[in-house]
Parts: sequence; C-alpha cells; structure tokens
Amino acid sequence: MDYQKILDEIYEETRPLLGQGRVADYIPALAHVDPKKYGIAIETLEGGCFHVGDAAVPFSIQSISKVFALSMVLKVLGEKLWTRVGREPSGGAFNSLVQLERENGIPRNPLINAGALVVTDCLSSITENPLHRLLEFVRKNSDNPQVNYDSLIANSERETGYRNAALVNFMKSFGNIENDVDAVLNIYFHQCALMMSCIDLAQAFLYFANGGRHPITQEQVISLSQCKRVNAVMQTCGFYDESGEFAFSVGLPGKSGVGGGIVAVIPKMLSICVWSPELNPKGNSLVGMKALELFTTKTGVSIF
Ligand code: GLN
Repeated sequence: MDYQKILDEIYEETRPLLGQGRVADYIPALAHVDPKKYGIAIETLEGGCFHVGDAAVPFSIQSISKVFALSMVLKVLGEKLWTRVGREPSGGAFNSLVQLERENGIPRNPLINAGALVVTDCLSSITENPLHRLLEFVRKNSDNPQVNYDSLIANSERETGYRNAALVNFMKSFGNIENDVDAVLNIYFHQCALMMSCIDLAQAFLYFANGGRHPITQEQVISLSQCKRVNAVMQTCGFYDESGEFAFSVGLPGKSGVGGGIVAVIPKMLSICVWSPELNPKGNSLVGMKALELFTTKTGVSIF
C-alpha cells in the first residue's frame, strides 16, 4: 500500500474544507492557534512513518490524553476501575453533567470528562507524582523526550474550568473522588495541556494497534485483554455523541480532542493521527473526521 500517495491525495482533497469549522475558544489559550494548521501522520507496526503538512508541529492534545491516563490506571487497578466508571456510550456532550445525578456519580465511561476525571483521581491515588509519571509515559511511548505540558494552556483552562470543577465536586459528593478536588483538577488540566505532534501521537498509539505491546520499546504497556477493551471503549465512546457517526463513516477505534487532534488505530497494522484545529458542532475536528473517512475508503481497511 502506498501510504504516502494516499496521504498526499487526502491532504489535497480535504484542504478546501479548511475554514468550515470553529476553533475551540472556551479555553481562551486554545483560541490563539492558527486555524489553518493541518497535518497527518501514519506509523506502521513495521516501523514505517509517513506524513504530510504540519505533522511535526506540537499541539494541545486535550482529551486524547484520557486514553494515556486510562492505560496507566488500568495497568495497576485492572478490573477494579470499573466499579467507579462504566463503559457505555453516554450519547451526550463530552462535558455533560446530566446523567451523573441519576447514576449516583458513576460516569458512563472513561472518555467523557466526568469519567476521565475519575481516572485522573485514580492516577493520583496510585502514584506519588502523577504529572511526572504521565510525562514519562508519553515521552517513552512517543519516543520523544521533548514532549511537555503547556502551562499557559493548563492555567487558562483552570481559570475557565467551571464545568470540570462542577463535575469533580459533584462526584466527590457521591464519594467517587478520593483526592482533593483542586489537586485532581490541576492534574487533569495539565494532562489535557500536553503538547504533542501528529508524529508523536501516532507513535504513542502504536501499542493500541499491537495488542498492548509497544513495537519500539517492546514493553507490554497494557495486557492484550486491556488493549482490546480500551479499543472497544474508544470505538464506542471516543467521539462523545458523534461516536456512532465516527464508527459509521471511519470504522476504527480512535480518540479526539478539542485541540483538533484525532488518533485512530487499525489493529495489527498502524496508527494514524490527523490535526486540524477547526471543530464541528460536536467538538471533533471537522477536517480530521473527513480525512479519516477518506483514509479508510481509499485503503479499503476496516475492522468490520
Ligand atoms: N480539556 C478539555 C475539557 O475538559 C478537554 C475536552 C476535549 O478535548 N473534548 O473541557
């Protein structure tokens, strides 16, 4: 398969869509990003790396970080995690509060904000210095020691993060948050403010395409069973109330973030990351969704 040719074609065919979405501005520091940035990177399990456009430019990974924190927590807690967070699609927005009261403070899944905040709370309980450990984790799996947090973005989100603060406080009232509310929020805002490029992210996601073992470090990051399960949760919940649409039009497990990144994996083959900061009304990258749809159409690959 000529991945470079396919990426070049997709890039040209989708560029006319730039300008149709809206950059996230509810986190003020995110609003400053150049809306015309656009890159795609593919990493194969055999070590191939193909890219186009701004694939080497670091951007705010936002909710994509949720699957890294989830991997770290699952590895230590295993099945126990599922007493505190479910694994059903929410059918709602990423930052919704509505189901939490009816469901006694147990979030539907670990990829909506409420669930990710519980996972961050778990990370805080099981590690001495969660931000340091998370940074080590992403640096190792992306093979890039330069990966870091953008504290301006983290602080900007803290200043305007009323909804996330509401979610943690609400869950604490149900007994589903063990640590100090501000400490959990601080870790969460920093994890969302990790800066990584498409190339970094495609590389970091390779373990999801390889049964939990990272093909470069040869480390079993999570077990085979945990890998299958995280992929299932990405498939059903990775795009919030657009998860069905993503499965329908792209057909791969993946995760998006409001920074405009989307990473998806084809098990046993490759990982692919697209970045275009303009979002559609559901909070997913407008051009990214289209690029990935074209990718699975042109290559004919599917998990179905
Ligand atoms: N930091 C963002 C928030 O919590 C992440 C949201 C996202 O990427 N969907 O609002």
